Amino acid sequence: MTARDEIVAYIEKRKDVYTEASDQIWEYAELALEETRSAAVLIEILKKEGFLVTEGVADMPTAFVAEFGCGKPVIAYLGEYDALPGLSQKADVFAQDPVMKDAPGHGCGHNLLGVAALAAAVAAKQYMEAHGTKGTVRFYGCPAEEGGCGKSFMAREGLFRDVDAAFTWHPSTIYSPWIMSSLSVMSMDFQFTGKTSHAGSAPHLGRSALDACELMNVGVNYLREHVPEEVRMHYAYLDAGGTAANIVQGHSKLRYMVRAKKMQTVLDVAARIKDVARGAALMTGTQMECREKACFSDFIPNPTLTNVLYESMCEIGAPSFTDEEYKYAEKIRSLLNSATFCTLDHRETGMSREEATDYFEKHALFDRIGPYKESEEYMSASTDVGDVSQATPTAQMRAPCYAIGTPGHSWYIVAQGKSSIAHKAILITGKCLALAGVKVLEDTSGEIIKRARQELLEKTGGIYHCPFPEGVKPQDVL
Ligand SMILES: [Zn+2]
Repeated sequence: MTARDEIVAYIEKRKDVYTEASDQIWEYAELALEETRSAAVLIEILKKEGFLVTEGVADMPTAFVAEFGCGKPVIAYLGEYDALPGLSQKADVFAQDPVMKDAPGHGCGHNLLGVAALAAAVAAKQYMEAHGTKGTVRFYGCPAEEGGCGKSFMAREGLFRDVDAAFTWHPSTIYSPWIMSSLSVMSMDFQFTGKTSHAGSAPHLGRSALDACELMNVGVNYLREHVPEEVRMHYAYLDAGGTAANIVQGHSKLRYMVRAKKMQTVLDVAARIKDVARGAALMTGTQMECREKACFSDFIPNPTLTNVLYESMCEIGAPSFTDEEYKYAEKIRSLLNSATFCTLDHRETGMSREEATDYFEKHALFDRIGPYKESEEYMSASTDVGDVSQATPTAQMRAPCYAIGTPGHSWYIVAQGKSSIAHKAILITGKCLALAGVKVLEDTSGEIIKRARQELLEKTGGIYHCPFPEGVKPQDVL
């Protein structure tokens, strides 16, 4: 029996455990740092399988590390399990219909993400036991990916320091190795405090916090011309001071997000935005307080490990779907109009833009393997896997859980989260990630790890700087 066949057999045997765990986490749909019951589902399986579990790591009650084996090499699997606010939706229902109005829902598929990574860790452990393979397999229970950057805090704590290879994935509509970097991002809240007064009879006594916000936004809008081209600056009003126009607003709050390729650029631009905010406070006679929120570093795809993962994907094979599954996906696509249909980045599929557009139009499900090629390009989103990839060589893949065209962070994702298509993705991903880990463990020459480490050194100089100042706690950034 080949390693591939053994791993396939291990995962198929526990198929029901994994689909039930994913469905259970889908039901719980717990928000960042509140994932108590979801984490417990995963911890229970890992303990039963003989993993040693350390709970509450990096100051987060729902973060944990499960470990099997000892010594080098150390293979890590990263799992997420948090949901998104307001996305509650009934499963397999083809219209927006929440289970509970305004409740959270798994709009990013993290119910699948955590379980598939766990399945990989368990299969790799079973393989090690069967063959007496040396090394350590870890599953990292990573909470608060959505806006909370759990992994950044785990990286700050040094939890990935001795890891030789980290693997993870993200639920998607395609099957491909993850070849592009993601952007660094930081968000900050600016609170202005002024003096309230009657806007008609005593405006001269008021100091408007709303004016401060508006002047800050004007200032940042002028700043846009003078930052590197790829920088994005987004903002939202968290508090406009109230609804009464005849009161001078005494309080207001803005949230800013800055994205750029490198964290240093983000920090440089953030410093200038803070200066603009100080200027706005000075102009309006208000007080300004800035709180740094979520911070993700850019993701560095490791070429050697991604190639190992890609080889594993090829050995496991492209997903195949039944007629019912194609029909299910077609039905979802019939709900998506041109405004909601999400055209995936063709660069992730290995196809030209024209080929990808044509393929996406004709296929409701992705049933091929997107090829692997090294890329210097950046996708326009961010993930806290970035901080892990800065600390240790990391590779990721995507697997099709939803109909092609399904937009991210939407009720359409939640509706498809318990489908047989999504369940298939858990198994196929578990197999690919497990096989990739076993390939690294079995490489007794240590060549894979050496090359992967060297590639990371060339990119980072071997130093990981957590973007958060020491005092900032996970609870502060939500
Ligand atoms: Zn996600």
